[in-house]
Amino acid sequence: MDFPTQLFIDGEWVDAESGGTFDVTDPATGEVVAAVADAGAVDVRRMIDGAAAAQEAWGALPALERAAIMKRAVGLFEERIHDLATLLTREQGKPLEQSIGELRYGIGFIDWFAEEARRVYGMTIPATTTSKRILALKQPLGVTACITPWNFPSLQILRKLGAALAAGCTMIVKPPEQTPLSALEIARVFSDAGLPAGVLQVAPSLDPVPVSQTFMEDARVRMISFTGSTEVGKILMRGAADTVKKVSLELGGHAPFIVFPDADMDHVVREAMSTKLRNMGQTCVSANRLFIHEDVAEEFTRRLTEEFQQLTVGHGLDEASDVGPLIEEAALEKVERHVEDAIAKGGKVLVGGHRAAAGNAFFEPTIIIGADESMQLAQEETFGPVAPIFTFADEDEVVRRANDSDYGLAAYFFTADLNRAIRVAERLDYGTVGVNDASISAVQAPFGGVKESGIGREGGPLGIEEYLEVKYVSVAGL
Ligand code: NAD
Repeated sequence: MDFPTQLFIDGEWVDAESGGTFDVTDPATGEVVAAVADAGAVDVRRMIDGAAAAQEAWGALPALERAAIMKRAVGLFEERIHDLATLLTREQGKPLEQSIGELRYGIGFIDWFAEEARRVYGMTIPATTTSKRILALKQPLGVTACITPWNFPSLQILRKLGAALAAGCTMIVKPPEQTPLSALEIARVFSDAGLPAGVLQVAPSLDPVPVSQTFMEDARVRMISFTGSTEVGKILMRGAADTVKKVSLELGGHAPFIVFPDADMDHVVREAMSTKLRNMGQTCVSANRLFIHEDVAEEFTRRLTEEFQQLTVGHGLDEASDVGPLIEEAALEKVERHVEDAIAKGGKVLVGGHRAAAGNAFFEPTIIIGADESMQLAQEETFGPVAPIFTFADEDEVVRRANDSDYGLAAYFFTADLNRAIRVAERLDYGTVGVNDASISAVQAPFGGVKESGIGREGGPLGIEEYLEVKYVSVAGL
C-alpha cells in the first residue's frame, strides 16, 4: 500500500531538515508500518512562513470557491475510504468497520462546513447619528495550528480543519506521534483536490514540545486548537498567553452513564455496549462510571455480562474482531492499575480483568461490580474496555455523584419520565448531555466540555465561530 511518509510543507512532500525519521507501529503486532519524517523547529518555522504567505489569498477567496475545493476533497475521501480505513486500523488498532465509521463522520465535517462557509454573516447595527453606519464583519483569524491525539487519528483533524478552511484560515497540523499516517493522507487528499499550497501543512514529530514551542513563540499563529489530555491542555493554555493566542481545548472526560429504574433496558444495554467499547474504550466520551439504580442493577449487570462474553478480541483487520488492541503498553498498564486498585478496594470482576491472549496490547473487556468513589477508576479516565458498575438509590444522590468530577465533557442518562429528563439534563454539569442517547456524535452539534474538559465548541454553527474574529467598522461622514 502506497502512502506518504514525509512532511507536507507548502504543497510539497519533503524530508525533515534534520533528516530524522521515527517509526509508526501496528499496536496489535508491534510490527513497524512506516518510518515517518520527524519535524523539528526549523521545519515548523517554514510551515508558519508558508501558511502566513498563503493566508491572505485563502481568506479572500469567495466562500463558494473554498467550499468547492472542500467538496472535491469529500469526493476523494469517499473514493479512497477503504484504503484510508485500512491504514488507520494499522496505525491505531480499531476494528476496520469502526475506522470506516470514523472516516465517514470526519468527512461529514468537511462536507457540512463547506456548506456553512457561505453563511458567515456579519451584522449592521443602527448607529446613534444619521451620519454614521456601524458594521460588524466576521473575518478569518489567520494562521491556526492544531495538535491532535491518537484515538481518532482522522476525525480529530477533520473536524478542526473543516471549520478552519470554511472560515478562511490556514492550518498547520501536528498529528500524534503514534498515528501520523492518517494526517498525511488527509494532506494528500486536499492536495489532490486543489487546495492551494501553504493552506494546509502537516508536521509529524516524535517530540511534540519543540513543535508546539515554535507555534507558541510565533505571533503569526493566532490560534491553537488542541484535543488530548487535560494536563497538556493546561500547558498549551499557559504557553498561548505570551502571544495572546486563542485556544480551543477538547480535553479529558469522565462520563457518567446513569440508568433510572423506568428506562428501556434493551435500549440501555445496546447504548452501554457501544459507548463503552467503541475504540476499545479509548474515547473522551466513553461511559466511565455506570451508575445503575439499585432496583435494576442486577438485571443490567446480568445482561451486560452476557453481551461482554460474546465479544471477540483480535486484530482490527480481522473481520471477526469486535475489540482491538489498546494503543500502547503504557495504556495497558494504566488499565491494569485501575482494575487491580478496584479489586483491592472491594470491587469484584465479573468478566475479563486481564490482558487478552490475542497478541501485543489487548485487554479483555471487563465488568467490575461494587465500584465506589474511593477507586482510581472513579477519579480518572481509564481509557480502556472496563465497565465499573456503581449503584444508587435516588435522583439527588446520583446527580451529586455524577457532578463530583473535575471533568465535564459528556454525560448520559436513561429514563422514561419526561419531567426527570428535563430536570436532570439541566442539573448535570457537562457540556454535552445525552438523554436516552449515548450516541451523541453529530457534525451539526456544538460538541465540547465545561470545567477541566475544555474551552470552545467543535461542530455546527458555533464550530466555525471559533475560527472567526469580529471586526467593528464605524463609518462616519455620511
Ligand atoms: P496527550 O495530551 O499526551 O497527547 C495529545 C497530543 O498532544 C499529541 O499530539 C501529543 O504529541 C501532544 N503533546 C503531548 N505532550 C505535549 C506537550 N508537552 N506539548 C505540546 N503537545 C504535546 O494525550 P495522549 O498521550 O494521547 O493520552 C494521554 C491521556 O489523554 C489519555 O490517558 C486520556 O486521558 C487523554 N486523552 C483524551 C483524548 C480526548 O479526546 N479528549 C484523546 C486522547 C487522550
